[in-house]
Amino acid sequence: MDEDCIFCQIVAGEIPGRTVYEDDDVLAFLDANPLAEGHTLVIPKEHHERLNDVPADKAESLYSTLHEIVPAVEDAVDAPATTVAFNNGEAAGQEVPHVHGHVVPRFEGDGGGPIHGIFGSRPGLSDEELDEIEAAIDERV
Ligand SMILES: [Zn+2]
Repeated sequence: MDEDCIFCQIVAGEIPGRTVYEDDDVLAFLDANPLAEGHTLVIPKEHHERLNDVPADKAESLYSTLHEIVPAVEDAVDAPATTVAFNNGEAAGQEVPHVHGHVVPRFEGDGGGPIHGIFGSRPGLSDEELDEIEAAIDERV
């Protein structure tokens, strides 16, 4: 546990949270500042800053919880869709340095737009550049 982390404090019960699901590895609770009704956060109980810091077995628990939470949230607030996303790192807008997946219910005409909408422009990449990027990622996985 990180004593200064607000999500660790919620896991420890030191700060009240509206818990919607809990098991040995994962906690899901309503976002205190929801972007839509039913906005839920899903976190590993262990303190890890980024997705890639989470041990593989805990990452499996995190994903399998998302797998169950997403339809539960949609059904609970009668939403036809959800945006499911992680801000992974400070430069991506992560404000609490404890991995958390956002499950945000979406509705027709809610004005939110797709994840693509957060990017103002797209890089113009040549086939050669794309080949290099493909190889660079492939050799690291
Ligand atoms: Zn934490």
